Amino acid sequence: MQLLTIGAFARAARLTPKALRLYDSVGLLPPAAVDPETGYRLYDPAQIADARLIAALRRIEMPLAEIRTVLSLPAPAAAEAVDAFWRRVAAGNATRAEQVALLVGQLSRRDHIMSDTLTVRHAARTDTGAVRDSNEDAAYAGDRLLAVADGMRGPAGAAASAAAIEALKRLEPSAGGAAALLAELAVAVDEVDRSLRGTGTDPCTTLTALLRRGSQLALVHVGDTRAYLLRGGELSLLTQDHTWVRDQVDHGRLSPSEAAGHPQRALLTRALGAGPQPVEADLALRTALPGDRYLLCSDGLSAVVERASLREALDLAEPEAAVRRLIEAAYEAGAPDNIACVVAHVS
Ligand code: MN
Repeated sequence: MQLLTIGAFARAARLTPKALRLYDSVGLLPPAAVDPETGYRLYDPAQIADARLIAALRRIEMPLAEIRTVLSLPAPAAAEAVDAFWRRVAAGNATRAEQVALLVGQLSRRDHIMSDTLTVRHAARTDTGAVRDSNEDAAYAGDRLLAVADGMRGPAGAAASAAAIEALKRLEPSAGGAAALLAELAVAVDEVDRSLRGTGTDPCTTLTALLRRGSQLALVHVGDTRAYLLRGGELSLLTQDHTWVRDQVDHGRLSPSEAAGHPQRALLTRALGAGPQPVEADLALRTALPGDRYLLCSDGLSAVVERASLREALDLAEPEAAVRRLIEAAYEAGAPDNIACVVAHVS
């Protein structure tokens, strides 16, 4: 039997002498003999198949201990062992791929949601109006929360609108995702609804609010208070009135102008604390953009002031000037009801 020097064997096996020395050092492929005088490693040509197999297994990143097992097995069992190894790797990669996708998603949203680069300037005001002798409207504007609520007439209604907004002010959104933000808002509104029902006097209130976390805005809405958005020069209504006349318009039984002048136009189909069933709040998730201007208001404004006037007020540079202008506009229209309005400029 003609033994090969490490150089010749390496060439024959298409490996480097360095790789062969490594396989020797970990006991995978000891040379057939070591020259007692020179210390040179000598290899049997029959070892070429094993050397190539080791190299192939290392290219698929099989751990050395498993390579040793594969080398010790007869061919069919060795094939099964390699197949089993690869199935394990593939399964692990699939799991990793899911984790990577999740992580990439989190990281790409992180900047957007978690870093609070938006600035919100805001103003809130309520006014009794020219006709009523009490004010049951409530309004709040803060960095994270914008809210208006229109309580039914009487002290219980004033307490209800204040309680609805207080419940949202207390809400500390967790670090969860958008769905968590909405869920927290829904739970808070549900609790207010239940607590109002529990008083026995059934005080009720509308509620329209935007809860912000970073650029995420969670919108909650019950009743006929409204949220508007001025974006890109377009004023859009973000909420649908929960009123009897609105239902009639939807069913084609009233025209929008008939609804606007209808004596029952203030009749609500949904309100917090009202009716035998827990209230169903409208919930939506929105994204705030720099340049957005939001208006939240009670029907004391939206029922009497033209949309064009709302729009003009939102064009004013300062939120404080906008709410002043809006209340003036309601007075110019007779201010028959309490007025609540909140204006927020996002930049
Ligand atoms: Mn009202």
